[in-house]
Amino acid sequence: MLNIGCHLSASKGFLNMGETAVSLGGNTFQFFTRNPRGGSAKDIDKNDADSLVSFMKENGFAKILAHAPYTLNACAKVPSIREFAYNTMLDDLKRMEYLPGNMYNFHPGSHVGQGVETGIELIADLLNSILWEEQQTCVLLETMAGKGSEVGSRFEELRQIIDRVNLSGKIGVCLDTCHVNDAGYDIVNDLDGVLNEFDKKIGLNRLKAIHLNDSKNPLGARKDRHEKIGDGYIGEAAFEKIVNHPVLRDLPMFLETPNELEGYKREIALLKSLQR
Ligand code: FE
Ligand code: FE
Ligand code: ZN
Repeated sequence: MLNIGCHLSASKGFLNMGETAVSLGGNTFQFFTRNPRGGSAKDIDKNDADSLVSFMKENGFAKILAHAPYTLNACAKVPSIREFAYNTMLDDLKRMEYLPGNMYNFHPGSHVGQGVETGIELIADLLNSILWEEQQTCVLLETMAGKGSEVGSRFEELRQIIDRVNLSGKIGVCLDTCHVNDAGYDIVNDLDGVLNEFDKKIGLNRLKAIHLNDSKNPLGARKDRHEKIGDGYIGEAAFEKIVNHPVLRDLPMFLETPNELEGYKREIALLKSLQR
């Protein structure tokens, strides 16, 4: 069975997202922990969180995925921006303990001219200052497209971050299909080759989630513009391979395509029909 969902608005609370996911034919979802451009989060509603936890159990949900705001840059040059990253991630991860055993995804960051090495060190430093032994959330580094000075468009870079993290057992990777395409990994013609490369450089045991997005741009474009499933350079046939691949087929998959709920519902149905 495909574990699939899409990005949902958190504005009506946790339980509402669970119910919406089911109404779209999914059994998981992704949400922003707060305004994607930053800002403070609402106080956590413990009853609402508990309701979602029960709802997920009753409805056989896969793990859900919280997404950090895009403005979180762990390897910014300006110290106050790194401080924002620290405060935001720490607060987000404390909140995630109300939804124990799920996942939190973030963009590793942009080194803004400091160089990849410095970027990698700053990202690992941030994680080392935040992660704690008893935490129940798996923190995912997202594979990036490589636009601007983004860190994490090469599997090697993600590996180097993980190698520097003391509590690396808390770290996984979320593979974004649009981003890896744009970074130059040919999942259309050589999915096996890309996954072998992932295994060699990072280890497939770290792969915890998939962002399913088609791309408006060709292989290696380093752009990061998501397209509807089947309408971009990746194409429906590649997604058919992805949802059936033995190392991917059981992972939770999240759509971040340019869609309203009706469009997400159609894509979820399409992807389910593609899985054999
Ligand atoms: Fe993302
Ligand atoms: Fe993504
Ligand atoms: Zn993206």
